[in-house]
Amino acid sequence: MEAVATEAAMRRSGIIQRYRQWMPVTDATPVITLFEGDTPLIPAPALAAAIDSKLKIYLKYEGLNPTGSFKDRGMTMAISKAVEAGARAVICASTGNTAASAAAYSARAGIKCAVLLPAGEVALGKVSQSLMHGATVIAIDGNFDDALRLVREITDEYPIELVNSLNPYRIEGQKSGAFEICDALDGPPDFHCIPVGNAGNITAYWKGYTEYFNAGRIDRRPKMLGFQAAGSAPIVKGHPIENPETLATAIRIGNPASWKQAEAARDESGGMIDMVTDEEIVEAYKMLARLEGVFCEPASAASVAGLRKTAASGYFSEPATAVCILTGHGLKDPNRAVSCADPLVELPPDKGRILDLLGF
Ligand SMILES: *Cc1c(COP(=O)(O)O)cnc(C)c1O
Repeated sequence: MEAVATEAAMRRSGIIQRYRQWMPVTDATPVITLFEGDTPLIPAPALAAAIDSKLKIYLKYEGLNPTGSFKDRGMTMAISKAVEAGARAVICASTGNTAASAAAYSARAGIKCAVLLPAGEVALGKVSQSLMHGATVIAIDGNFDDALRLVREITDEYPIELVNSLNPYRIEGQKSGAFEICDALDGPPDFHCIPVGNAGNITAYWKGYTEYFNAGRIDRRPKMLGFQAAGSAPIVKGHPIENPETLATAIRIGNPASWKQAEAARDESGGMIDMVTDEEIVEAYKMLARLEGVFCEPASAASVAGLRKTAASGYFSEPATAVCILTGHGLKDPNRAVSCADPLVELPPDKGRILDLLGF
């Protein structure tokens, strides 16, 4: 038993150990890890049949990271470097998942963590995580963009480390997702579909693909297809959105910090950044759960909703592989799930009534 456990522990080493040569670490860097990364790349044949049978679709299920979102890939790097630099405290603005991740990795590192959240706009699971890990959780009467402006000002003036994706170590950690996809497929996919909020993740994936390409590990790079929510689509519309709206709260961002980098990823790859409506997001959210057994949060489903919209427009003319990044776990937002799914049935403890309902 012992030998098996050790072997398993070695395989699941976290992204800094696994991709050490690609990460900005030295022997002096304390590695703060919860064994993030190494998430499954799940083939989705039923989804492909429903969307476009020319496509081979894979789901990169980032909900299986330690705190339930891809943010852990960046946070292991950001917190490790903060501790290396002697920081005693970190802060972030968040739609919820960055906060949950920062809170967990700070707890692991034994440093303080403060998070600024837009009041009333953060999914229940995410708030519960930040509180449980002992972060100072501050809900502000404003949106994510207001919160980010405040933490930028605070970290400019005071000795507290910013761990939003403006922190370059976040991007460095998150690029590991691209390495994992190429390693798993033994090459790059043709298309990379991803939700776009603050635009750190599309930036990170493009950096990862580009580093593998420049090192000769892959011979081409995928086209990057990014998707914003229609009510929060500043990059698509070409201007900041004052009051962004969408039920996909993780991408409810009106002025993305990595706007320019997202456009560069789009243009250098020959891809595009488009938008999907909340209705399209909810349809994809339900299709993923019902056709493939994969439960993600609404923002994550924007990648699949976008692929579906793009396929319907006749974009794909020949067989191709598409990877959709499912950025966070469905259990993050149980209220949304319950309100979107068919209602449960209440019955008295009566066998006849139950059999009736089941059609026997
Ligand atoms: C943070 C987040 C996003 C958006 O990622 P960006 O890097 O801000 O573009 C999408 N989905 C989920 C679940 C997230 O937590």
